[in-house]
Amino acid sequence: MSLREQLCAYGRRAVELGLVIGSSGNLSVREGDLVAVTPAGAALDRLTPEMCPVVDVEGHLVEGELQPSSETPMHLAVYAATGAGAVVHTHAVFGTVVATTMTELPPVHYNALLLGGAVRVAPYATYGTPELAANVRQAMEGRKAALMANHGGVTVGATLEEAFEATRLLEWLCEVYVRGLGVGTPTVLTGEQLDAVVERALNPPVFPRRPPS
Ligand SMILES: [Zn+2]
Repeated sequence: MSLREQLCAYGRRAVELGLVIGSSGNLSVREGDLVAVTPAGAALDRLTPEMCPVVDVEGHLVEGELQPSSETPMHLAVYAATGAGAVVHTHAVFGTVVATTMTELPPVHYNALLLGGAVRVAPYATYGTPELAANVRQAMEGRKAALMANHGGVTVGATLEEAFEATRLLEWLCEVYVRGLGVGTPTVLTGEQLDAVVERALNPPVFPRRPPS
């Protein structure tokens, strides 16, 4: 699949899964110094490959008639900081709830380690501005995800599939936390407990074969 075809496929999926309503999110995928990105203001479930602009990592339009997403500066800042292969940004409900109420999503489930641990909330700045891009860049340090205050979430991956799955995981973690708050006080895992998870993942048990009878 070409980069632009991938944007169409994952754009559709993002809407189908309820992560994005209409145009309230944007995706990009990089190959070398070229980045295919969803166009500004377009419904993500109605994209065609030709609609998706291609920019270089400095933000020059290389291909396409439509303007790239207004969050393209944020995507480019994240590429520069992380060397990722793809970036996914959505206004998914539970991520946005956490981003409007907290300064970080604490690790209440060990799967948070897949995103690098506690997910930081980048301070608020107007959408599409270099200030927001800089805030996100900082919040992403050592992480595969960040939340943007009063806005939404952003994730990275080596591929668009990886970045997309990270967005699904981020939304799941935020939902567990928010629903947990409705029941009681969610227990936050300690550094020691998280270290033990890493240790366990690095040393999985090997089940011996049953000897022939
Ligand atoms: Zn946004």
